[in-house]
Amino acid sequence: MSAEQRLLELKRRIEELLPAGVGFSEVEFEGPELVIYSEDAQKFADDGAIVRTLAKELKKRISVRPSAEMLMKPENASKAIYEIVPEDGGIKDIYFDLDKAEVIIEAERPGLVIGTHGATLKEVAKVIGWRPSVIRAPPIQSAIIKSIRRYLREESEFRKGFLKRTGRRIYRDSDRTSDRTSEKTRRDDWVRVTMLGGCKEVGRNAFQLSTPETRVLIDCGVSVGSEGTPYLYVPEVTPIRDIDAVVITHAHLDHTGLIPLLFQYEYDGPIYTTPPTRDLMTLLLLDYLEVSVREGKRIPYKSARIRDAVRHTILLNYGEVTDISPDLKLTFYNAGHILGSAIAYFNIGNGRYNLAFSGDIKYERTLLFDPAFNGFPKLDGLVLESTYGGANDFQPSRREAEKNLKDDIERTIKRGGKVVIPAFAVGRSQEVMLALERLRLEVPVYLDGMIWEATAVHTAHPEYLNKKLKTSIFKGENPFLSDVFVQVDDAEKRRAIIEGREEGKEPCVILATSGMLNGGPVLEYLKGLASDEKNMLIFVGYQAEGTLGRRIQKGWKEVPLSDAGKIRNIKMKMETKTIDGFSGHSDRNQLLEFVKGIRPLPSKVICVHGESSKCVALASGIHRKFSIETAAPMNLETLRLV
Ligand SMILES: [Zn+2]
Ligand SMILES: [Zn+2]
Repeated sequence: MSAEQRLLELKRRIEELLPAGVGFSEVEFEGPELVIYSEDAQKFADDGAIVRTLAKELKKRISVRPSAEMLMKPENASKAIYEIVPEDGGIKDIYFDLDKAEVIIEAERPGLVIGTHGATLKEVAKVIGWRPSVIRAPPIQSAIIKSIRRYLREESEFRKGFLKRTGRRIYRDSDRTSDRTSEKTRRDDWVRVTMLGGCKEVGRNAFQLSTPETRVLIDCGVSVGSEGTPYLYVPEVTPIRDIDAVVITHAHLDHTGLIPLLFQYEYDGPIYTTPPTRDLMTLLLLDYLEVSVREGKRIPYKSARIRDAVRHTILLNYGEVTDISPDLKLTFYNAGHILGSAIAYFNIGNGRYNLAFSGDIKYERTLLFDPAFNGFPKLDGLVLESTYGGANDFQPSRREAEKNLKDDIERTIKRGGKVVIPAFAVGRSQEVMLALERLRLEVPVYLDGMIWEATAVHTAHPEYLNKKLKTSIFKGENPFLSDVFVQVDDAEKRRAIIEGREEGKEPCVILATSGMLNGGPVLEYLKGLASDEKNMLIFVGYQAEGTLGRRIQKGWKEVPLSDAGKIRNIKMKMETKTIDGFSGHSDRNQLLEFVKGIRPLPSKVICVHGESSKCVALASGIHRKFSIETAAPMNLETLRLV
């Protein structure tokens, strides 16, 4: 059955299932959703049972939208909203989500926008036609989210065509059920994973999942310490333009750095990811290009390709089961690693095989997130990260880590020194910020690099934070807004802090990017502060082989740094410490506990995303402990799972 025929059939079924007095004008596949356009959209909204019944009967993700002719022009609709809603509501932003025919009103006091028994909002809906939803305005405005929204509005025509095209492709003729199918392919049920990068190394993650119907690329990252890229152009890899879908586990560059390049090579399909991952990924990719230009490195693609990635993104929240091809359903689950980080769970061929890619996971409650999810409905194969999978990779508890941080900072402050903490803009920074806020320090904490903007993205997606933090943010007690944090946004202020002029005269704590000292403002602090033994450098995150951070950790006493275009050797006299326990990765125990909690246990675990010895150690540890088949493949290996 073709997508066209399938739509006709669905229309007929919908007519049968709808209660009397509720009609529709059009039905269309848009991305993975079945969209029903109706002049009675409000009736669907008022009676939730209608959509629930349709979804259950038709086994599709259903979305109901007002017919196009009912929608007021966004400019006029904005005006109308301001007229209807009382001024005290404190509207901060009005955003039209054209994909969903929804208008999102960001307000300081959502209750006043909604009105008694929803009266104000109902009035809004009646006048403008769009379905309004109200959210509390995020306490810190994010520039990147604003510009993504503006860009998508400009691209609304493209989005319409793209979603329709993608929908038709997802619900295309299944090769396996059509008449064209030969007996041979009908019997062929193989499922394979090809390792394109990120095996026995940390960096350039990329995997191709192949089924008889579908090719999916999972992550497409860069190497952190070197120039290496995933093996995308070897003959056994499907030409990039023929890939059905790209799935991204989380925003870190070792998982996303080369996503935009796919569009240079004619990829025109969807990218599935969570809403925070889209925002953080855009931020990190733009910064990656900017840093590459500044440091005179080769640029792999232009910024227009990053925009391509944004306009091809289809957002999925945790737990939404979604058809992405005739024989694949995708569900994202919380990975506990960074904001929006996800485990990608694939149901292949109607449950014939269930495979999960862990991405990076943290199986412990942190100040920011709940522990990674492992209650999968059924799991046959697991591709598991192994960053801290070595036999001795045990991390102290979070509480212990906080105590160590406190002791080291206090000692440095007492001797009049400054503390430099290199941190990833996304993830570690916010976790360490929350820990620092709890210490009630008497000295300022400077934030340099993209940390503040990344923090703004966190507060824009509170539903992706753990319950405790979310609740306190909603109550207006936002730890990120503490006075202790001071943003550094220009070179002059940075110099003042380093040289001890102005407020930087006193001891202080500096949280700066990049996390592995391979670029970013943290290098300026290092140049200025390394030669004084009063100061301290504290590592809180993973330092990859080949990075400056790793060299200093190994005890290099002199490090070469470029200064005004010249290489200068900097003497490392400042005290250097590594505080484990703040990591966004699971340690060995947590990885084993994560696997142990999966019921029933998967029959195969593939260990990736770790130095060679760590992948091997984790694979043999899991095999010994649970008696299940494990592997620690090399890049370019293909494993057949079924
Ligand atoms: Zn990561
Ligand atoms: Zn990673």
